[in-house]
Parts: sequence; C-alpha cells; structure tokens
Amino acid sequence: MSAIDRVAVFTGSASGADPEYMQAAVAVGSALATAGKGLVYGGGNVGLMGAVASAGREAGGEVVGVIPEALVDKEIAHDDLTRLEVVSGMHERKQRMADLSDAFVVLPGGVGTLEEFFEVWTWQQLGIHQKPIAIYDVNGFWNPLVVMIDRLVSEGFVGAQFRDSLIHATDPAELLEKLTAWDAPAPKWSAPAGSV
Ligand code: AMP
Repeated sequence: MSAIDRVAVFTGSASGADPEYMQAAVAVGSALATAGKGLVYGGGNVGLMGAVASAGREAGGEVVGVIPEALVDKEIAHDDLTRLEVVSGMHERKQRMADLSDAFVVLPGGVGTLEEFFEVWTWQQLGIHQKPIAIYDVNGFWNPLVVMIDRLVSEGFVGAQFRDSLIHATDPAELLEKLTAWDAPAPKWSAPAGSV
C-alpha cells in the first residue's frame, strides 16, 4: 500500500483519432483532482495532456506542469496551472516529474508517452523508485503494448513480476483503487544472479 498525494500523467500532445481518448483524459484529470490528488504533467496546453491538466484545474485540483525551456518558447505552455516549472531539457523534466510524483499513469499517446512509460518502468525494475505505474486503456489502445510486454516476459527478457507490477485500468475508480492498493515488486538485482 502506498500513500499517493501526486500523480504524474503521461499522455499525447495530440488528441488522437478516437474522441474517447479526449473523454478519458478529461475523466482521469477530473477524478484525480476530485480525489484530492495533485497532478504532475508535461506542462503543455495541447492535445490530451492539455485536457488532463485543464480538467484537473476545473475540478479544483493542484496541477503542476514541468516543461523544458524550448517548449515554453514555442508558446504552448498551459497558462492556468497551480505552478509551471521551467527546466533546461527533457532529461531534467522527466527526473523532476518523477521526483514530484508518487505514481504514474499512462494514457493514450505517442512516442513521448511511450518513452516516459518505459523510463519509469525501467526505474521501477531497478528499484530507483517504488511507485506504481498504471496503463490506462481506452478501447484497447494499449493491447499491442501488453502483447509485446508478454513477449518480453515469455522470451526471458523481463521478469514476470515486473509485468505483473503494472496496473491496468479502464475507468477512473478502478485506477484510484488499484493505485492505492499497489505493493512494490522486489528490485531486479535483489533476485539471484542471472535471473530476470
Ligand atoms: P507524445 O506522446 O509524443 O505526444 O508526447 C507526449 C508526452 O511527451 C507528454 O507526456 C509530455 O510530457 C511530453 N511532451 C511532448 N510534446 C509536448 C509538448 N508540446 N508540450 C509539453 N510536453 C510535451
């Protein structure tokens, strides 16, 4: 069980093809804020990420954006946040987002979202953090990723416990419940040498 005050949300800077992605982003942003969870995200006012942040603010929640200087200059930073932290680059942003958060939620998105997911999942395996990661699915969007993760396990590249440590949720209530109930796996290198 873990106390969760703030949740980082990784999601698309585009809105995606299916209108349900936007509905899910609004529902998650709103539900986290209503549950008293602060929201941490990439700071932009575009696509699903902007929608999560706006929904969190509209529901009265704390929303902290962490954005690299180069993206602020392109004037796509959200202008109605509790706080916007401007950092020097993408690496610093991800470190800061992780430091500020007690959990990570991955909504539909593109390369940036996948990259953020894989980094925090890698860090979880190495024991760099002990925070839950939830894959939030909308109309089976993440199914191909789940299949790939199963293959990583069946082919001996990822320990089953690290696949099993990932939360899957399809609605906000399930998400909140599973985040709160989560227990951290033992880190990879605490297992016997050579095992995954
Ligand atoms: P993507 O999935 O490729 O659209 O990238 C979205 C993720 O990368 C978000 O979770 C952000 O943290 C980051 N990101 C990508 N584009 C932007 C942007 N224009 N403004 C702020 N953050 C962005």
